[in-house]
Amino acid sequence: MKIGSGLDVHAFGPGEHVMLGGVRVPHDRGVLAHSDGDVVLHALTDALLGAAGLGDIGEHFKDSDPRWKGADSSGFVRAVMRMLAERGLRVGNADVTVLAERPKIGPVRAQIRARLAELLEVAPEAVNVKATTTEKLGFLGRAEGIAAQAVVLLLDAG
Ligand code: MG
Repeated sequence: MKIGSGLDVHAFGPGEHVMLGGVRVPHDRGVLAHSDGDVVLHALTDALLGAAGLGDIGEHFKDSDPRWKGADSSGFVRAVMRMLAERGLRVGNADVTVLAERPKIGPVRAQIRARLAELLEVAPEAVNVKATTTEKLGFLGRAEGIAAQAVVLLLDAG
């Protein structure tokens, strides 16, 4: 068993939606990012890489690389899942927390869970999606951006 954690933050910018866990969530802001700025998938990618001892998302998918401009971050997770499979590893479970005042996660929680389960090749019961505000404190509390944290457990595929 191997455990990994990931954290990601993006600032809000102009736009009318944010991507969270591969799901397009309507919002009155977008995020400033090189890729699609999906904080959930970026935190998850880092958690997967961390558990396998494979560094971090920035090493594998440089934010200066034109290939990742506007990229669907699902591709980062899929690429890392292939790296894990090559090493005989699979996901046991994942626990994700979104930190933001808005958008509210409740209405899209089940959809995000299902999408993450698909990407991680596990049952939806093995994925948990939580959300919290920071009680109006700090940059998240002032709704200047959005953050996500992820923890994953990897098991031997055997
Ligand atoms: Mg990011």
